Amino acid sequence: MAQGGRDNSSRGAWPCSRAVIALVLASALLPTGGARAAPPSETTAAAPAAASADSKCDRAKFRIILDVGHTAESYGAMSARGVPEFEFNLNLGKRIDERLKADGFAETVLLVTEGKARPSLMKRVARANKKGADLFLSIHHDSVPGIYAEKWEFEGKKSIFNDLFGGYSVFVSRQNPHYQESLRFARLVGNQMASKELQFARQYDQWFMGKFQRELLDIEAGVYRYDQLIVLKMTSMPAVLLESGSIINREEELVMASDDHKNKVAAAVSAAALEYCGTRGPASPQVAQPPPKSSKPAQRVAQPRVVQPKKPAAARAAQKR
Ligand SMILES: [Zn+2]
Repeated sequence: MAQGGRDNSSRGAWPCSRAVIALVLASALLPTGGARAAPPSETTAAAPAAASADSKCDRAKFRIILDVGHTAESYGAMSARGVPEFEFNLNLGKRIDERLKADGFAETVLLVTEGKARPSLMKRVARANKKGADLFLSIHHDSVPGIYAEKWEFEGKKSIFNDLFGGYSVFVSRQNPHYQESLRFARLVGNQMASKELQFARQYDQWFMGKFQRELLDIEAGVYRYDQLIVLKMTSMPAVLLESGSIINREEELVMASDDHKNKVAAAVSAAALEYCGTRGPASPQVAQPPPKSSKPAQRVAQPRVVQPKKPAAARAAQKR
């Protein structure tokens, strides 16, 4: 996600300080503290459930599209140490791709595009819809609204950071044609992440996020609703966006770059995909549909109805996923 780090002019005065945010976050975390612990039944219940899902899932035919967020040219957020988000997304995307294929999901597709933000978004959606898939997972790393960025220097270069916010988050759009299935997969991914002792980003349903405030749909899994995201609302299959963690948080940036974390996320996604695949209903219509010969999908998705006129830069940045 790029949350307007280069623009903080459109939000006006924020009636809160770092201390207040820290307090709100701390209190918000309290009720969910216990939720991170593995339920007592996990060790006994997980094995039969996994085995059942496994037996019902034809992994060789189940296609997941891994959408690498942003492009080299339009890279999304910038980390506290000056590394573009796109690099984090690509590295994690490759790791998840390897893991899924190693786990038998041979049809997995890693989707990487080039160019400017908006055309590349349209390209990714068009490619995904043309190819067809059972699931679409967009991979990102998080930042903060520009108003919360603090200045520091890293290796002699001026940069920005925020160490208060951190954690993964999972987003779905009600405008996706398969919203319920999207939500189901999002929950599975979030629960898998939580089972690996990862915390979700607790700030998104808080008032101080302003225009970035989102409805929290699942407090156990860390799933939020974000209807307007193009890769979620315009994809023709169940779609989920994962923010793996914050790269503007100086400590978490190092975690995000580590093999250990990438492997955890890859394992979480693979386990979630297996459970989703093995437990979905018979009516799931996720087989690749060739486009009608008379239509041009790449042009059809770029209808002006999705172009928001003259949004502030911060709002536009939030959509550049
Ligand atoms: Zn992003």
